Amino acid sequence: MFQRRKKRVCVISLDGVPGAFLRDAFREGRLAPLRSVWQAGEAAELTSTVPPISSVAWATYSTGVNPGRHGIYGFADRDPRDMSQHLLTAKDVAAPRLWELAAQAGKKSAIVNVPLTYPAEPVAGWLVAGFPAPELSRATYPPSLARQLAQDGYLVDPDPGAASQPPEFFSQVERALASRRRVALKLLREPWDLYHLHIMATDRLNHFFLADGLNCGPWAAEFWHAYEQVAELVGEVVAALPKGTELVLMSDHGFAPIRWELDLNAFLIEWGWLELSGEGEGPGRVAPGSVAYSLTPGRVYLLRRGRERDGWIEPDDAPGYLERIAEDLLSLSTPEGKPAIGEVLFGREIYRGPEAELGPDLLALPAPGVELRGGWSGEEPFRPARRQGGHTLTGAFLWIRGRCPRAGTVLDVPPTVWSLLGLPPKPEFEGKVLI
Ligand SMILES: [Zn+2]
Repeated sequence: MFQRRKKRVCVISLDGVPGAFLRDAFREGRLAPLRSVWQAGEAAELTSTVPPISSVAWATYSTGVNPGRHGIYGFADRDPRDMSQHLLTAKDVAAPRLWELAAQAGKKSAIVNVPLTYPAEPVAGWLVAGFPAPELSRATYPPSLARQLAQDGYLVDPDPGAASQPPEFFSQVERALASRRRVALKLLREPWDLYHLHIMATDRLNHFFLADGLNCGPWAAEFWHAYEQVAELVGEVVAALPKGTELVLMSDHGFAPIRWELDLNAFLIEWGWLELSGEGEGPGRVAPGSVAYSLTPGRVYLLRRGRERDGWIEPDDAPGYLERIAEDLLSLSTPEGKPAIGEVLFGREIYRGPEAELGPDLLALPAPGVELRGGWSGEEPFRPARRQGGHTLTGAFLWIRGRCPRAGTVLDVPPTVWSLLGLPPKPEFEGKVLI
């Protein structure tokens, strides 16, 4: 009797790696193990989420819905009622995860290092949480896996603070990749249907050393050595996959060198839209009577009546304020006289769902060479960038072995993975299948 072959899907994601970066590296003879994998498929351009950062992109990938439904707009958010700020965790993701949905369809998953999966929740299979994961003991399912990882010296993520001491930073990257390799290969032997290995180190490398890597800077050799380790890890995982596994490689946002940091709160203060009171850091400093404030990266919120503490802006007046702030943003130029903001989007036009009301009212996307943040020091809006690279909305990629995917957005990847798993279309997914 004919028996349908079990469909398995392996997703390997490289955080913040542009497709063009890989193609250039291959042309220069680098990353050979990844290159030989790459030749067996086709890549398409993937547009990131708004804002284009890992927490939002991976919440979107792992739920198949937009931020207006999953409720994640950054790594941190504020409670508008008291304007306190908190880091987001897996508990804040307001929609079911891809692996939960897969479990309902009888599929087992092995998920390694995907951002915003901490604390680890029970899953049909295995999960090792990704950044941010402060305690390893709460970072795995089953919990017993954490003990084995601790004995193994597992490192979730290099400490970004170590980037000021490059030798220490690169040794942490190496340690994180080596321990990731061991758990990745171990879980590969389990009976999964959906396997996902996420590499975070590439985002860290690009933030701190992208310009060095691209321009033969002081740390170029270490930068490329770490990338070679990533390529070897991908090659090793792919070589160990069960025969017939569908293979997907992807990234979640692009990256580009930056020259300037723009503090949107300092901008709002300078242009008369925001006043700070008191001391310290965070939106608790927003003074009554202010019009707007910002959270990293490029999220702008009005002080809406009924939403924010001291909120006073009525719904009918909100669009007018947003238009004027958008005009001011688009008129900003860097100290070199180049445009600082590439595009301004309105929350009401891009977010749909029950979590949209709490989301940002306006989203600023930086022009090339600029990185946006929401600071609370009240200093100058612009300062020379302290990091070498920043995220971009465009430039991410989706690659599938033996197939020719269409260009799309991060939101389109979950229905695509779902279809590769051989499952019937799921109407909850907002994106479209790209194969
Ligand atoms: Zn990043």
